[in-house]
Amino acid sequence: MPNRICFREPWNDAIRASKLLSEAVSEHLAGNVSKASELFAKANIESIWGWWNSIAWPKSPYVKYRVVDTAPPSLSLENRIPIRMPNSDMIRKVHERDGHCCRFCWMPVIRKEIRERISKAYPDIVTFGKTNRSRHRAFLAMWAQYDHILPHSRWGDNSFENIVLTCSACNFGRMNYTLEEVWLSDPRAKPPIKSDWNWLENFK
Ligand SMILES: [Zn+2]
Repeated sequence: MPNRICFREPWNDAIRASKLLSEAVSEHLAGNVSKASELFAKANIESIWGWWNSIAWPKSPYVKYRVVDTAPPSLSLENRIPIRMPNSDMIRKVHERDGHCCRFCWMPVIRKEIRERISKAYPDIVTFGKTNRSRHRAFLAMWAQYDHILPHSRWGDNSFENIVLTCSACNFGRMNYTLEEVWLSDPRAKPPIKSDWNWLENFK
């Protein structure tokens, strides 16, 4: 099997939802709260759940694993680099470099801080509880992640070179496997895509 760029293509409904979210933010900024509420609700498309789970669940049929003899071993917790997550300065640089889309599948993504701001303004519609099931489908699929190319548990560090911006399905789907173990090509080998997705950064 040749390497792939991602486990599964972004779901059309998720892309459609990203457009609805942009429209919702525009209506919100124009002071049309009821229209914005309607659009945020409309973007919560149920079919995104099945697509997301098909990749993110531990036994995904789309994530094919192989044993790679030369792959670095899994490290016990005490042997890993102590800080797993990049700091806010690094996160900002990763976003600047990678644009606003997943480096694997090109799904538009949304920063956690922006989602939290929107959730606060529309708490009954933009839900993001403790379980994935309870989360607004579009915000779940478009949840920005900072993915270690060489996984943290395999001695991956927080260097700028080792971290890429991804969507949650690509990040959760790969778990602690190296790219080679799950037949993925290195997304750093090609430049990030240019997109007009505004990441909902203008939400206030
Ligand atoms: Zn992705």
